[in-house]
Amino acid sequence: MKITNYINGNFHNPIEDNWIDNYNPSDGTVYGQIPNSSKEDVENAYIAAKSTFPSWSQTTFEERSRILIKISELLEANLERFAEAESKDNGKPVSLAKSVDIPRAASNFRFFGNAITQFTSESHESVGQDAINYTLRQPIGVVGCISPWNLPLYLFTWKIAPAIAAGNCVVAKPSEVTPMTAYLLGEICNEAGLPKGVLNIVHGLGSTTGQAIIEHPDIKAISFTGGTATGAHIAKVAAPMFKKLSLELGGKNPNIIFADCDYEDMLQTTVRSSFANQGQICLCGSRIFVEASIYDKFKTDFVAKVKGLKVGHPSDTDTNIGALVSQQHLNKVKDYIQIAKDENATVLCGGNEVIVKGFEHGYYLEPTVLEVPTDDCRVNQEEIFGPVVTVMPFNTENDVLQMANKVKYGLSATLWTNDLKRTMHMSNKLQAGIVWVNTWMLRDLRTPFGGVKDSGVGREGGFEALRFFTEAKNVCIKY
Ligand code: NAD
Repeated sequence: MKITNYINGNFHNPIEDNWIDNYNPSDGTVYGQIPNSSKEDVENAYIAAKSTFPSWSQTTFEERSRILIKISELLEANLERFAEAESKDNGKPVSLAKSVDIPRAASNFRFFGNAITQFTSESHESVGQDAINYTLRQPIGVVGCISPWNLPLYLFTWKIAPAIAAGNCVVAKPSEVTPMTAYLLGEICNEAGLPKGVLNIVHGLGSTTGQAIIEHPDIKAISFTGGTATGAHIAKVAAPMFKKLSLELGGKNPNIIFADCDYEDMLQTTVRSSFANQGQICLCGSRIFVEASIYDKFKTDFVAKVKGLKVGHPSDTDTNIGALVSQQHLNKVKDYIQIAKDENATVLCGGNEVIVKGFEHGYYLEPTVLEVPTDDCRVNQEEIFGPVVTVMPFNTENDVLQMANKVKYGLSATLWTNDLKRTMHMSNKLQAGIVWVNTWMLRDLRTPFGGVKDSGVGREGGFEALRFFTEAKNVCIKY
């Protein structure tokens, strides 16, 4: 099948007729083509967005809210179709796409459809100077949204929904590896009555289509989620044009387990925080630190549970671990397992490719637990972004804090303890944008989301996202 660009409410082939193969990771077959859109395609998307901006930015917030909520309802009504498409493109279990990815994409539209009706600005009376100030929150104009492959529709809509809710028009690019649900979203937007040109979706490689978006002088804000190296490149290109940037980047998150935690709850959740979505979530706790007194017990129990996870075809209802997203990514993860061995890590379980009967060319890998001799080995410092975690013991709170913070990333951290003082102390000191205590990936869409250090700049979520997609203008009136 051919995926096409969605520009001004219509579907278009790329001007240069340049196409890229789209793979199904569960069996390694090519099942479609997507455009590798050129600068001219991006320009057409920009022109559509620009000409729609004057009317869309003047649409009442009730009307914008109504359309966003309608998109949300249509996504829910099409749950099965979207979940199957997401799984086929990405390799994740259909059950996961059905319970997490697509419901969350629908929630993104519903949440920002509601949030825009509550988004207010400030006023300040300058007492003694007979003046009043008020702040206008005005949409920026045409904004760019670029997203990765791991949670395709989930993250794509996490940007688009607040951007259009705030009155902007959008040029958006999903990952070239997982374009399918973004393509299907175009139809849904038309059905929901989103005016033509508010959302424009161009497909293609980062180096061609993505590059054309970030280089466009009149796309004044870029919301990007992806790797740290790509984020740094975007910052460099955008800086001379003074573009507003939100960069949500990589992570290497610590999962810190104290002996006083609720053990069973911790164990179940740690399996999930290690291997959900084949470990391809930026928030996965890929470095597990366990208090020495329970370290041996934890290793035994954790490894037993991990060995019980079923690697299988994404459509099988009992599959826990589906396929990795691509052959290239599978190779990268396997290379890291070799690097770990070279650095004297012990493979406690996993480490091998899995052949799934009938789907021998799919990209399957066993969930892998590595016991590392030191916290500064490469597999403990570099983002692997696959079904691979490291474990090691610690003795004191200060020791583990030092190790947890001794990476270039700072996205999230998870802490397991029932000690209140320790919770407060560690939460304050952990270098991360998000700290979970006795849970993982519990997301309330009103809360700020983002990282520190090399994990990014800026915050998404709640009013933070609406603030990013608007400019504050202060008006001061002397009376
Ligand atoms: P990536 O950086 O390779 O690609 C992300 C997107 O950027 C894709 O759409 C890609 O085509 C585009 N891109 C690449 N080069 C570009 C360029 N020169 N100009 C403009 N766009 C360009 O990342 P990926 O491999 O798709 O995703 C995995 C990474 O994403 C991991 O590092 C992961 O941690 C990170 N991630 C972060 C978060 C977060 O919220 N912090 C969430 C999910 C994933």
